[in-house]
Amino acid sequence: MKNKTINICDECESEYFADSSKMANLCPNCSHYLYGYKNCQHKFENGRCVNCYLEEKIYKKIMKIKL
Ligand SMILES: [Zn+2]
Ligand SMILES: [Zn+2]
Repeated sequence: MKNKTINICDECESEYFADSSKMANLCPNCSHYLYGYKNCQHKFENGRCVNCYLEEKIYKKIMKIKL
């Protein structure tokens, strides 16, 4: 288990790994859709992305709004 800093996204309020995002207060998913930064290649396991720690239920809610 690596020691990672966990932030809360200002936009979707999901927890995410601070070093997985280019933005200080946004998860990689929100920084992608709001500012065009590279998104995480999400891989959800047990309700969390293993790469950025985004919550799967929050991700699905956002994708419903975006599509
Ligand atoms: Zn977010
Ligand atoms: Zn991810």
